[in-house]
Amino acid sequence: MLFTRTRQMVFWLLLSCFACFAEARIVIEALPVNLTDFRIDYYIDDSQNLDYPEVRGKTFSETASSTSLGTNARVAWYRLSLENRASQTLDLNLHLPHAYHVQSIRFYEERDGTLVRSEKLNLDQPADTGLMFRGSAIYQLTLPAASSTTLYVRSHAYSHQWFALNIYDLEHSRRALVGVSNDIALMVGMMLALVFYNLLLYFATSKIENIYYSCYLISGLVWIALSYGLVASLFDLYGQAVFMLNLSLITMPIFLLLFMMAIFETRQHYPLEHRCLQFVLVPLCGMFIWGLFDISAALKPASSVALVMMIVTLSVSISLLRKGNPLAKYFLLGHLLFVLFNTLAVLFYKGLIEPNYVASHGVGIGIVLEALMLAFIISHRIRILERIRASQDELKRQAATDPLTRLHNRRYFAATAEALLNQCRAQQQPVAMVMADIDHFKAVNDTWGHAAGDKVIEHIARILKTCSRNRDLPARFGGEEFVILLPDADLNQALQCAERIRSEVERSRFDIGTDAPLHVTLSLGVTQLDTAHDSIQSGLSRADEALYQAKHAGRNRVCFADTPSRTSD
Ligand code: GH3
Ligand code: MG
Ligand code: MG
Repeated sequence: MLFTRTRQMVFWLLLSCFACFAEARIVIEALPVNLTDFRIDYYIDDSQNLDYPEVRGKTFSETASSTSLGTNARVAWYRLSLENRASQTLDLNLHLPHAYHVQSIRFYEERDGTLVRSEKLNLDQPADTGLMFRGSAIYQLTLPAASSTTLYVRSHAYSHQWFALNIYDLEHSRRALVGVSNDIALMVGMMLALVFYNLLLYFATSKIENIYYSCYLISGLVWIALSYGLVASLFDLYGQAVFMLNLSLITMPIFLLLFMMAIFETRQHYPLEHRCLQFVLVPLCGMFIWGLFDISAALKPASSVALVMMIVTLSVSISLLRKGNPLAKYFLLGHLLFVLFNTLAVLFYKGLIEPNYVASHGVGIGIVLEALMLAFIISHRIRILERIRASQDELKRQAATDPLTRLHNRRYFAATAEALLNQCRAQQQPVAMVMADIDHFKAVNDTWGHAAGDKVIEHIARILKTCSRNRDLPARFGGEEFVILLPDADLNQALQCAERIRSEVERSRFDIGTDAPLHVTLSLGVTQLDTAHDSIQSGLSRADEALYQAKHAGRNRVCFADTPSRTSD
């Protein structure tokens, strides 16, 4: 029993030792070949100048076929062995789907310890080899039955060593290239839609935050399209040709800071936070100008500046939250999501966590989530501004309206009538005015009470409204006195209007809850304004004179006062 167990232990020990030194070997028994998850070997060349013969003798370590070796592995060598145990010759394609973001790739193919083929792919001149297709490097390989080969792939990255290797037969190779970058295209498409929507919002509202937000989105989508291979797969552009687009990594935080300043109105309401945001904005603008001349150098301190920026923006949003800003909590949530997914991405780029979809797309996901949150903030702010405007409009309306009759009050009449008179003067239209006063109204109050009197006033106000045209300006002038300004109406038209009102009041029976309905009459004074000489005030005085005449002549009637110019004619 003991002997058996010891034998097992020795067996496992030998097996694990063998695994350490053995090459990663892939055995293909039959078609189809669709290999995306297997083990490969890697070796980091710190000197960056070892060649194939020297690297062959080095000790390789094992990793997954999708891996991230971090920023300290600018040059890495990958190795794998393929053995064809199928009965036919295999035509295989080796895909390197992340090839678009490195400087160069070299392939070395070995049979029976001898180099049989090597290829060099410089991403600045990808057309030289024909190895690049839609962002992926593709190495074609023919493996006769019962043969094997060992492949060495040297990958020289710009910054981080982010590598993946897939092996397909021709059919699966075609399929793999069809759906490439669809998810990224979706992200970018969504952001583009937001850009257009925000530009439309800007044209409608002239709010500068919509422009900052659009620029932030454009920077974000350019960076996502660039670093996740959409630019490569759509336009076949790699290497130095598109390296300048990395400037978007600097413009993105610049527009985020400007957006924060605009949306929180920090200059007006939060001077301390405003200075903190300026404190980060200035060096970022400096980096942008530097980047225009030397993008590689300008990007070097980017991660430190990004860290400072995240600390400042987080602190500012927490401070605004504590000061009770209603938008701060949404901003903080969006920004925390951004920081969280970016942290995942940084851990992945540094090779500290296993590659997975979320980690490898962390920056993109963070940008999209934050962008959606910012879109929500914009719509929320529009709602807040709408509410403020609606309450201001309501206050204005209340200040201009008589609460009992809902007619305009004397203040509104005074503010508007002069403008109407000027308009008529300019268009050479006549203007007339009617003043009305309820007859013996004091007696109504004394007999039936103040509430009954109020009902009568309300009812007469309704008659005034229904008997005047839309463009007339009826108003409650005082207790039981009313005035109507009639633009584009001469004396005769105004007299007809006044007579209609008088007879309507005379016919009306006011139900005030007593057995016999109440009956009141109205006296009215009318005048036409001389647009060349009259003011509203002089018109009012003359209409009042005419009203006095109507009272004096026995009430329940319409009298008029001629304009002075007419009298002199
Ligand atoms: P006249 O025919 O000469 O106009 O006689 P009058 O009684 O109508 O004239 P007077 O100006 O002496 O009385 C107006 C009355 O209107 C006095 C006041 O108590 C009443 N009054 C003013 N405003 C209101 C109001 O809002 N509601 C009610 N119920 N009464 C009002
Ligand atoms: Mg009166
Ligand atoms: Mg009266």
